[in-house]
Amino acid sequence: MAGKVIVVTGGSRGIGAATAKLAARQGYAVCVNYVSNRDAAEAVADEIRKAGGRAITVAGDVAKEEDILRLFATVDKELGPVTALVNNAGILDHQSRLDGMSAERINRVLIANITGSLLCAREAVKRMSTRHGGRGGAIVNLSSMAAKLGGPGEYVDYAASKGAIDAFTIGLAKEVAAEGIRVNAVRPGLIYTDIHASGGEAGRVDRLKDAVPMKRGGTAEEVANAILWLLSDESSYATGTFIDVSGGR
Ligand code: NAP
Repeated sequence: MAGKVIVVTGGSRGIGAATAKLAARQGYAVCVNYVSNRDAAEAVADEIRKAGGRAITVAGDVAKEEDILRLFATVDKELGPVTALVNNAGILDHQSRLDGMSAERINRVLIANITGSLLCAREAVKRMSTRHGGRGGAIVNLSSMAAKLGGPGEYVDYAASKGAIDAFTIGLAKEVAAEGIRVNAVRPGLIYTDIHASGGEAGRVDRLKDAVPMKRGGTAEEVANAILWLLSDESSYATGTFIDVSGGR
């Protein structure tokens, strides 16, 4: 597709950063969204530009509708109509049983992970759908193996948010399938990124890796490869489906 433009939410670190860089290598103009870590976002964009690619950075909290509207308006103006969205921004909080969780924490996780993804997809559909005069496109949502495993004792709130992402992926895929938009998801397993430190255990992947059939954690690049395949024409007949990138877990 000529003029490929991708929005990667949470593109400053981890899986999002690997996805932004791989997308640039595959010819996308890239919007690297981030919430607070400007230096990390600029480093991703600089690396893309140094390699001859096109990238912008846009600060914005996916938990805030006004930020999402501004994010997509900026992309319209600076890169042109979006053709690919990766709903990657996602959060979890400290490991806890449900009986130790506050309503504030639960709502914060659900709003960022679920509402944020729904609203970003809404803005992408408005621009991509042939029903709205668009040229079509593809969306990939970041689910998690937690949607299947449930996150007991650690973060059932986060796992529930990823279960919602699975249902949303299936439903939106059917809703816009005849309008030129494919919607799929990846379910990463234990991937080496900063997110585990957010949960209070930076070494979580190494603690759990022996229980993975492949006996190792995964890399952000391994997840990015699956995401870019689902965005590409190579997967042109796949929609509403999932790739578990989890070493068999
Ligand atoms: P990470 O290393 O913690 O990075 C999170 C990224 O999201 C950062 O770029 C961060 O921006 C951004 N972000 C956080 N909250 C945001 C918000 N409210 N608005 C906009 N951006 C926000 O995370 P990761 O491990 O790469 O995870 C990426 C996705 O994969 C998440 O959806 C996660 O649930 C999913 N996942 C990860 C794993 C794993 O093992 N790592 C497993 C399964 C699923 P700043 O740099 O500005 O903070």
